[in-house]
Parts: sequence; structure tokens; C-alpha cells
Amino acid sequence: MLSLLEKMVNTDSGSYTTDGVLKVAGFISDVLLPLGFDVQMLPSSKYAPHLLARRRGSGSKKLMFLGHMDTVFDEGTAKRRPFYIEGDKAYGPGVCDMQSGIVCLLYALLALEEAGYTGYGELKILFNSDEERGSETSEQYIIEECSKSDMVLVMEPGMPGDYVVIERQGGGIFNLDIQGKPAHAGACPLDGIHAIDEAAHKILALHGLSDFSLGRSVSVGVIEGGTRSNIIPEHVFMEIDLRARFHRDGLALMKKMQEITDASYVPGTKSTLTKVMYRPPIEKTPGNLELYQTLVTAARKLGIPVNETYCGGGSDGNYTSAQGIPTIDSLGPIGSLEHTDDEYMLVETLFSRCKLTALYIVELTA
Ligand SMILES: [Zn+2]
Repeated sequence: MLSLLEKMVNTDSGSYTTDGVLKVAGFISDVLLPLGFDVQMLPSSKYAPHLLARRRGSGSKKLMFLGHMDTVFDEGTAKRRPFYIEGDKAYGPGVCDMQSGIVCLLYALLALEEAGYTGYGELKILFNSDEERGSETSEQYIIEECSKSDMVLVMEPGMPGDYVVIERQGGGIFNLDIQGKPAHAGACPLDGIHAIDEAAHKILALHGLSDFSLGRSVSVGVIEGGTRSNIIPEHVFMEIDLRARFHRDGLALMKKMQEITDASYVPGTKSTLTKVMYRPPIEKTPGNLELYQTLVTAARKLGIPVNETYCGGGSDGNYTSAQGIPTIDSLGPIGSLEHTDDEYMLVETLFSRCKLTALYIVELTA
């Protein structure tokens, strides 16, 4: 397991490193094809193709596994800080998020094969190549494929504290453009329409929508505008982050953001709000809780501790849960500090979560 993980981590596979992601897809196919999986690559208009694999069994339950082959790291990162183990932790780009989740699932499938278990109706795996870009070109595949499945199991990393996730925050990225009119700031300022003045009002109004105690927030994270101090600024661009614990809050926030966009504080400005992406939250539904209860049963049999938690970040499980498909997330090996140079995975959990995944499949389908 560790040598496959090492090979994958040492392959640069940032979302924009198409060759590297394809190489990772090759490592995965090398395991899945001999297991009798039908493997196909789904085209992406912008990133490496996504991997879809399926295998039929003798039972009735259709399981879908989700994961991503891409990382957030630029080309050259693997060379600069390759895979290594120190103490009880493994390090390297994507070691936790989420090459180890992929390895964990592959070896669980190998174990089931060795045990001769085929009690499932179908095992389907979708590993996309653009999750770290909001699954821009794979969202449609995920929605399409999950609607043909009974449940979705997401192999994103588990969190310290033996956590899996059955409730996840939703979130989105929006762009806001404000158009004003330039003028000489000294000679004829009143001939201009001040886009930055408008932006200042809008930012305060947008931030006023946040209520962190209720898990909903709006934050302007990027702002660009103006050219010279002596010119009334003509244009402002903002990138906005939205978070919501409940889908109804997400919808309400988007409606209010549109109202703020449409209102002009500085007469004559014109504003346009564009949705880049929105992932609805995973809510604690009865279906998700049932998936968790079955996981607890499997974990008890193995003596592996497991807890459930709410998580602030989003994953592709957000899309599947919003379709009403029972979803459980963060089944992968445990680690932390994802998206940083200090990202690590607890080595022991690569094995324990693998055993848990194998028995979990049996418990869910037997
Ligand atoms: Zn991830």
C-alpha cells in the first residue's frame, strides 16, 4: 500500500498538471482492471479526463465511491518535497488529500476480491480530476452517476479524532463586477461614477449577511479596481465566498446577494453578479445517519474507533447529498493540514481505514 501511495504522491498531479493526473489514473487502472472493473475515461473540456470504473456483483445494492485524483499543488512540488515517513506520519503533496483515500479504497477492493466477496449489486468509482477546482467539469457526471446509485461513499480524508463526516457546509464562489464612469478626480469629479464607492457600500452590505453562529457567511476575498488615484474609478471586480450549513440558507443568501447587486448606492453604477460554482451543503439526513450507523457496526467488529462530525469545507459529497442520495464522507485515512506544505497522513490509519472500508462494503451489501 505504501509503495503505491509513494508513487502517486511523487507524481505531480495538480488540477492543471494533466499529464500527472493521467499517470495517477494509470496507476489506478492497473489495480482495477485485473479486478474485473470496466474502466472508462470521461472527457473534460479543461482538465485531465475523469476516471469512471464499475463492476457488477451478485447482490442488489449499488454503491458509488467518490474521490479525486487532483491536488492543489503546482508542478515541481513532488520533486521539491517528495513522499517521506517520519514517526507515525507520512508527508508529501496530496498524501492526505487524497491519494491515500484512493489507495485505501483500492486495497479494500483487493481484499474483497481475495475473500471472494461479490454480495453487492454494483460497485462504481468516480475519481475526478478537477475537484480542487470545484469539480467544474465533473459535476454533471457526479450528479448523473449518483442518481443511479443507492448510496455514495466519499474517500476524502478522515479527520483527527477518528472522524467521518455526515454533515458538511455548502459553499460557492461568485464574481461581482461593478461598472462606473471615469473622470478627472480634481477637474470634474462629479462627471464620474465612482465604482469603488459603490463597492465599499456593497461589501458592507454583503458582509452584513453573515451570521457565523448559524454557519452562514459571505466574504469578499478578492477585490480589484481603479487605475490611478487621480481618476474616478470606472470598474471594480470582486470575488466572493459564500458558506451555508443548510441548503435553504444558501438559497436565501444567493437571493440577498442578487438584491444587493441590483441596488445602486452610487447612482449610475451597474453591477453584475456571476455564479462561478455552488455546492449545496450535506445535511444530516436520516439516510446519512443510517450509513453512519452501519459504519459504526463495522468499526466495532474491527475495534476501530469512529466518530461523526460536521465539517466546514466542501467536497463532491455535497453534490450527491443534494440529490437526495445517502452520502457519507471522509472515509479515507486520517490526516490534516491539507493544501499546505505540512500536510500529513497518520500512517496507521491507511491500514485501519482500509480494513474498515472493506468490511463496511460487506455490511452495507450482505
Ligand atoms: Zn480532497
